[in-house]
Amino acid sequence: MPVPLAAGNWKMNTTVDEAVALAAAVKEAVDGVTGVDVLVCPPFVSLAPVAAALEGSGVMVGAQNTHNQTNGAFTGEVAPSMIAGICRYVILGHSERRQLFGEDDGLINLKVKAAVDAGLIPILCVGETLQQREDGKAGEVVGNQVKAGLDGVSPSGGLVVAYEPVWAIGTGVSATPETASEIMGGVILKTLEDLYGAQTASQTPLLYGGSVNPDNIDSFVSQEAIHGGLVGGASLRADQFGAIVKATAAAKSS
Ligand code: PEP
Repeated sequence: MPVPLAAGNWKMNTTVDEAVALAAAVKEAVDGVTGVDVLVCPPFVSLAPVAAALEGSGVMVGAQNTHNQTNGAFTGEVAPSMIAGICRYVILGHSERRQLFGEDDGLINLKVKAAVDAGLIPILCVGETLQQREDGKAGEVVGNQVKAGLDGVSPSGGLVVAYEPVWAIGTGVSATPETASEIMGGVILKTLEDLYGAQTASQTPLLYGGSVNPDNIDSFVSQEAIHGGLVGGASLRADQFGAIVKATAAAKSS
């Protein structure tokens, strides 16, 4: 089993001051908890101040996006090499990027490659829409997203895959642990095995995301195929995120 991971996606929330204060509160909330990696992903402008606030705490920092080129005339964009000195992880392929910013599997694949080349660990997000689930295509969609996102990618520096059904993100309606486990163990893990072999696949953290909270996290991380959570809304509350981290550590140590 990989080291469990609890990751917070702060999305486009928090000013720099608020981000630093939230990071300090998270640091305090997870102090002394072992057996789980903890990661927070603030907005770009807060990456450096949050990294400074968390220095020495063990709480890691990630970005929420990056560009697929190393530099150039891409006004407003941020290259992987610019964040690689500040943080270790980057969320890529989040459904909000896919839906609101038109990112497709091809572009996400380029971003994953660029992130890996810069020494970052990609957190590749995949997940089906409600329509795709109702059409019985969830497994096929997710399998294809994993394959396309990782096409030609060598994950020797580390890789995380997050299963986030689109209909469960920010809706308060989470997947059932069984449904999530079916996709994660049955589709994502198998696809990773086909791509990289059983050993690498078994060491890749698989996160569930979609309306995770302190009350339901245990039901997810109690599943063998689920190694942690990618948490949106609840990660903006240090007490709630701290409870999610602790529940993950407890479930995975038993
Ligand atoms: C997310 O944005 O990755 C997410 C899972 O959000 P929420 O926890 O709010 O559903």
